[in-house]
Amino acid sequence: SLTLGIVGLPNVGKSTLFNALTSNEALAANYPFATIEPNVGVVPLPDPRLDRLAEMFDSAKTVPATVSFVDIAGLVKGASEGQGLGNKFLANIREADAICQVIRVFDDPDVVHVDGRIDPSSDIETINTELIIADMQTLEKALPRLEKEARTHKDRRPALEAAQRAKEILDEGRTLFAAGIGKDDPELRELNLLTTKPFLYVFNADEGVLTDESRRAQLRELVAPADAVFLDAKVEAELVELDAESAAELLESIGQTEPGLAALARAGFHTLGLQTYLTAGPKEARAWTIRQGWTAPQAAGVIHTDFERGFIKAEIISYDDLVTAGSMADAKSAGKVRMEGKDYVMSDGDIVDFRFNV
Ligand code: GDP
Repeated sequence: SLTLGIVGLPNVGKSTLFNALTSNEALAANYPFATIEPNVGVVPLPDPRLDRLAEMFDSAKTVPATVSFVDIAGLVKGASEGQGLGNKFLANIREADAICQVIRVFDDPDVVHVDGRIDPSSDIETINTELIIADMQTLEKALPRLEKEARTHKDRRPALEAAQRAKEILDEGRTLFAAGIGKDDPELRELNLLTTKPFLYVFNADEGVLTDESRRAQLRELVAPADAVFLDAKVEAELVELDAESAAELLESIGQTEPGLAALARAGFHTLGLQTYLTAGPKEARAWTIRQGWTAPQAAGVIHTDFERGFIKAEIISYDDLVTAGSMADAKSAGKVRMEGKDYVMSDGDIVDFRFNV
């Protein structure tokens, strides 16, 4: 499954946040795989639609979609020079599908900031610079080879030109993603450049920032169009240890309506370009994770590969239509339930019953 790699300067709260992501015991019980890899933390994607469906279909449980975060320790200035942790760091980050940078905006005289002061834009620039340098090194190695290939194979010219354009962008100190070149760019994909990955920013804040709307707007603007999440990593680590009632009290006492991890899950999902479709029955009401743009058979394959191979058709109703109709029977008689074929492109919130041959 797709993952976000957590990065950040030392002492910004990465470990604290990651502990919160991994010590969610209720979650570990539902998702035993979540505890297999020590460096992977899994958060459920909050989805109020599931509770509603469980009511309607009398489901025994709800199973939300999840988002996975990988702890990528050890970014320091100079990582791209390949000293010590550097190479391993870059290899790990290369495997992540998106990058989640934790940025410190909490004040605490007892916690040293590596650069001696709280300065989010300088933290972002430090990380960007390391990733840009790493990509420039990749390109400098690849360009002579691409030039040679393009001389003998015309069809390699677009790859060469894309690499040259990428180098110009990086030379200007910009990331490829900021220049509109994503990781699915057909010509550059083979180079797996780090700055093509989408970014998500987590501002590790204290109550002062969390409740200061204009400060948050300022920080949001600093990273736009990337998603920004505001949370207090220390509070998040406490929240996962509490029962629902005490957790709600703690949140209220700091003026929050939901845990920061919920917002983080949503933003992570969005940054990865994912969406969900839903199934419901007596056993469970469940959200399934797919990429945006996937067709019905691809979506069926997430449940079981046999479903994709033997796909015949899908009975689909949108969540909103079902809720408006009140019940599946009423939705059917109102003509809101559609039969879709193999070319149907899924929408978020489709409730699906697949028909297939085995
Ligand atoms: P890392 O080096 O990025 O992994 O940072 P850590 O998670 O180890 O945190 C560094 C220090 O900052 C620890 O002493 C944490 O307890 C503290 N810390 C982390 N998050 C917060 C926060 O939101 N507020 C405050 N005041 N301290 C925090």
